[in-house]
Amino acid sequence: MVGPRIVSETYSSTLAPNWIRRTAEGLFSVLFPSDCRICGLPLLNISRLPVCPDCLAQIHPIRGKVCSICGERVLSVYAHTEDDGLRRCPVCRRVERPFARAIAYGSYDGSLRELIHLLKYNGVRPAADVLGRMLAQAFAALEASFEHTTVLVVPVPLYKGKRRQRGFNQAELVAQAALKRYSGHLQIAPGILQRVRDTHSQIGLTSHQRRENMRGAFAVGCAAEVTGREVLLVDDVYTTGTTVAECARVLVRAGAARVWVATVARTLKLASNEQGFETPESQSLPQEDQLEENLEPAVLRQ
Ligand SMILES: [Zn+2]
Ligand SMILES: [Zn+2]
Repeated sequence: MVGPRIVSETYSSTLAPNWIRRTAEGLFSVLFPSDCRICGLPLLNISRLPVCPDCLAQIHPIRGKVCSICGERVLSVYAHTEDDGLRRCPVCRRVERPFARAIAYGSYDGSLRELIHLLKYNGVRPAADVLGRMLAQAFAALEASFEHTTVLVVPVPLYKGKRRQRGFNQAELVAQAALKRYSGHLQIAPGILQRVRDTHSQIGLTSHQRRENMRGAFAVGCAAEVTGREVLLVDDVYTTGTTVAECARVLVRAGAARVWVATVARTLKLASNEQGFETPESQSLPQEDQLEENLEPAVLRQ
């Protein structure tokens, strides 16, 4: 197969003017598929999303038992459900989260992480459709918990400077794509929550620093719009949970009846396997301070 790279080499080795070379390259990139942006192998079909079927097939929902509240994977000693039918990780046993439940479709690694990066950092917008399909499954998993007929979908906002720079808010694109595939009563309300202050990267910060970093970053424009409403907060990734926890806190303070969280992916601290998660004998229980990382400023359970 003649690929665009071969053609450009042929042209550049002759004395073809630059504009001819650029036009030829442009034409070939439309007529002939490029390489998969994840594994680098040539794509066999033309697709709006430059990712091969094998890479997409590697993405799957989180396997094994997870905490009903925060979605973190739980060790088998915590796998039993409590009296209210919910399974809680050690952190959620001790503290109350500002959101009712957080659900993620997949683990934030491998192809799923790459796909999210393609959308977010490389502007490959067709990735939003695939990610939206996954998010719709997270919506469906939460559906039974909704109490009201219509739930407000609120994408985690970007600060206006960052949005301008990126050209879009990935959480909003993915939420819109998910709603196209979801038949429940959800109503998107992107303007309700605003990011009123820019925040630094959360990487390398302690849990205390992360909370300080987020404090005052979000605000609800019109409290009347959320008062008494159930809100489904949407983001691409749940990492430490600090961002969604701060958003949830602000929404509850503005009068929201309950806040749910759905993300495409989640950082999981514990590895899983195909059969479901079990504790290998060599693996010790996580240290309390590691779990503490996930703590939000929350009320300790009495
Ligand atoms: Zn691939
Ligand atoms: Zn939990």
